[in-house]
Formats: sequence, C-alpha cells, structure tokens
Amino acid sequence: MQPSFEALQLSPALTAVVHGLGYTRPTPIQIEAIPALLAGRDVIGQSQTGSGKTAAFALPILQGIEVDRHELQALVLCPTRELTAQVGREMRKLGRGHHGLQVLELVGGQPSRPQRDALERGAQIVIGTPGRLLDHLERGVMNPGSIKIVVLDEADRMLDMGFGEDVRKIIRFLPHDRQTALFSATFPGAIEAMSKEVQPDALRITIETPDEDLSDIRQLKLCFGTNDKLLALCRALQSQPHGSALVFCNQKATVREITKELGRRGVSVDRFDGDLEQFDRDQVLARFRNHSVRVLIATDVAGRGLDVEGLDLVINYDLPEQAEVYVHRIGRTGRAGANGVAISMVRDGADRDIEAIEEFTGQTMEILDHSASKHLRLDDLLKKLAEVPGMETIMISGGRKDKVRKGDILGALTGEAGGLSSKEIGKIEIQDKLSYVAVSQGVISDAVSRLNAGRIKGKRFRATHVGGEEARPSPRSDSFNDALKRSPQKGNPRSRIAPFRRKP
Ligand code: AMP
Repeated sequence: MQPSFEALQLSPALTAVVHGLGYTRPTPIQIEAIPALLAGRDVIGQSQTGSGKTAAFALPILQGIEVDRHELQALVLCPTRELTAQVGREMRKLGRGHHGLQVLELVGGQPSRPQRDALERGAQIVIGTPGRLLDHLERGVMNPGSIKIVVLDEADRMLDMGFGEDVRKIIRFLPHDRQTALFSATFPGAIEAMSKEVQPDALRITIETPDEDLSDIRQLKLCFGTNDKLLALCRALQSQPHGSALVFCNQKATVREITKELGRRGVSVDRFDGDLEQFDRDQVLARFRNHSVRVLIATDVAGRGLDVEGLDLVINYDLPEQAEVYVHRIGRTGRAGANGVAISMVRDGADRDIEAIEEFTGQTMEILDHSASKHLRLDDLLKKLAEVPGMETIMISGGRKDKVRKGDILGALTGEAGGLSSKEIGKIEIQDKLSYVAVSQGVISDAVSRLNAGRIKGKRFRATHVGGEEARPSPRSDSFNDALKRSPQKGNPRSRIAPFRRKP
C-alpha cells in the first residue's frame, strides 16, 4: 500500500494542513522527495506539472522555516511569472498554519521599488524568476546569508529560456552549506552538468511513468545529406499533405529558424517554445487545434504541455538525445485509437542513433517512400505546401462565464446579420473568459467585422483576428487580462493579419 503523509516525517501541523486541503495520499514524487529533503539531502527530481512536485519541495521548506526570524531562508527559482505565481499560491496554501510567514514573489516586468520594500520587511520565502532575483542580489537588496535551501523549479525550461548563466550567478551568492533541490521534466546534458556543479551529491529521483503504447503509430525514417535538411523536412510534410503536423527540434533557435523559413514561403506554420508566455501558448494551441496552423514547430520542453487530439504526423527534425524522449514525442500522434505517423529525419551516417532508439522501442523504422515528391525541388515543394487551403482564427472576448455557447457564435456568423455559410466555419472552442472560432481564410475580415458589429447573447464582445509569429508581442509584454483589454482599433499587434498565411 502507498504510504500516508504521516509516514513521511512531516510535522503533525503540516500533515493536518495537507489533509485539510483534501490531499489524502502523497504522490510518487512527494513520497520520494519529502523524506530526503527533510533529512537535509540535495535532490534532483524528475517531475511533470501536475505530479504534485510543488508540494514535494514546499512542505519540507515550510517545515524548516523559522517564522519568528524575519530573514530570507528559502529561495525558489522559476522560469516564468506564471509558474512563480502558481508556486506562490501553493506555498501560501500549505503555509496557512505558519503565522507570521511571508512569501514574496519577485518577477521581472514589474517595478523594483515595491519589491525592495517588501524584502526589507523580512520575507522568509522568496519565489521568482532568475533575472530579477539576480538583480536584487547584485544590488545588495536581497540578503542571501541565511538561505538554507534553494529550489530550481522546471530547470530544463529555465535553461531553454536562456537563464542558465543567471542561475549559476545566483547560486554563487548562496551559502555553501545550503540545500539544493532541482526539478526538471527532461534531463538533457546541460541539466546533468548544472546538477553536478551545484549539487554534486544529489539523490536522484525518477518517477516511473506507464509505458506509452506505440502500436498504432507507423514509425518511419527519412535520410538526408548534409545540405538538404529543409528539403527533407518538406518531403516529410508533403507525405501527409493535409493533416496537422508537429515538428520537434532540439533547440529553440532551430524552432525559430524553421518557423521563419516556412512562414516566409506561405506555409501555415507557427512555433511553440519555452519563450512563449501562457497567453500566447493558449492562442497558438487553439489555432493548431482548429487547423488555422497546420505545422507546429516545437521544443520538447514546450511540447510537454501539448495535448492535441487527432494529430496525424509527428516529425523529429532533430533526433532526441534520449530514447525516452523519442517515445514521448511520437506518443502525441495516434491517440485514442487513431492511426498516426512518426517520421524521424536521419542524417546520412547517423544510423547508430536510430539503432539506439529502435532497441529501446523494440520496433524497426520503415524507410519513408517519398518517390512522389522526389523529383520536386525545394521551391516547388514549398509552393505545394503553401497551397493547402487553411483556416483563420478569431478570438472573441467572451466565454463560458459570459454564458456564450457554440450555437450563439455559429448563429452570429451564419444568421441574417452574419451571412456566412456553415461550410466556412470550423471548430469553435469555448473557454472560461474567451472563445476561439475558426473560419475559412477568404471570409476572415468579413467575419471579424460582423462579430464586432453584432451582439452575442444580447451583449457586445470584441472579436480579433489572431495569429502569426509577428503578430505576437514580445515575451514578458503582457498578461492575459491586459491583452484582452487592449482594443484592436488602438493597434493591438495581435489583430493584424497573420503574415505567414499570405502567399508572397
Ligand atoms: P503540481 O504538480 O505541483 O503543479 O501540483 C498539481 C496539483 O495537485 C496542485 O493543484 C496541487 O494542489 C495538487 N496536489 C499536490 N499534492 C497533492 C496530493 N498529494 N493529493 C492531491 N492533490 C495534490
């Protein structure tokens, strides 16, 4: 039987809080990490969002906090503002029995002054993003002398976002006898190196996940020579010309490069990497799900949170470093009984890498038959890829909470005032505070103006055409609400026509 919280050496007070929150049993990562951290060990833990990893480090931190000392005792580094807020919420929830506890969130994009004042009041726990934390340390505003434990949360994403150097600098400010916990979903070489550096004797915690069933996925490989990787990618895409395709790269620089290259040539494409803020991630995914974006280029780190039904094709533009990652990537196609195709692009002579993967999966990859596109040059292929008729996405500023339903949106578009035919309308997705609707490319501006002029459920909502790399604001620029508040008439960059969808 699974152990209880009582068995993890948590204090009775914390155990009571946990039960009060309705957590009946600890999750696997909690079972492993809590006793180790309470015993003072460094840990390196494999964890996904939703595994309960926040409580796995928050509970031991809280147990060690001396609330009557008004000095900084624990530091948590997160890759994004969203995660910082999420960790902050969980920490406060679990710390509600600690009277006098101050948990402070310090992130970039906000004025420094109030953060400084709050630090001076003596928070015991600080959670934040590396850039801003380093800034406070370097200015001597934040005193690291009494820090007992530091947590690197979603460490792979922090590296993916280019925070590696900042993290290292922050660690150098901390006392030598501190405890270090590192959590990450993937373990590329860079994470292993960082762990060796900042926690040489860490206990490794890996959580077994159930094996993916790959039996519904056709696994193929496509070999290419040194100079024609893009050509090979186009051939792989052209082998399934009408479905959605998810393309994995090992680095976000590659993600950007290919997105740009394909987009410039009119292919329906967007990117999904660790630099995107939550709001943009939601938008890109909504557009991918409703087929406004046909090809999505992603890194593993970003791809983790990605669950798209009916994905026809997964392409490994770069082979992953680890066979486990391969399985995880291709497991995104062929879900729920549907058949999927996975194509791995293999540089001539890199057969050893493929063999390692084949050994791990126990299946041999077939060679992709691309004879149909073999005679085509890159330009012709790109032209063909750009020809597939696509959809465009409109975001409407009302959702479930406004009692907006699919039928209302359909009605607004097809009714007397709407004038669109139902053939021109694709998937409608209703979220809490907003909705997305896909419409045919040709009717997009018409549909946007009709929605803006008319009413849904007797109310006026704002409709915006969303999409495209260049239509996206720079990272860190705004929150969900700011983005909603901005009016398209005032030059909201999101409202521009997606540059990638137009043919050159
Ligand atoms: P996390 O993986 O830290 O993002 O946590 C995912 C969610 O699970 C959070 O909403 C936690 O509040 C919740 N949670 C954490 N530990 C437990 C547990 N042992 N039992 C039930 N829920 C939990």
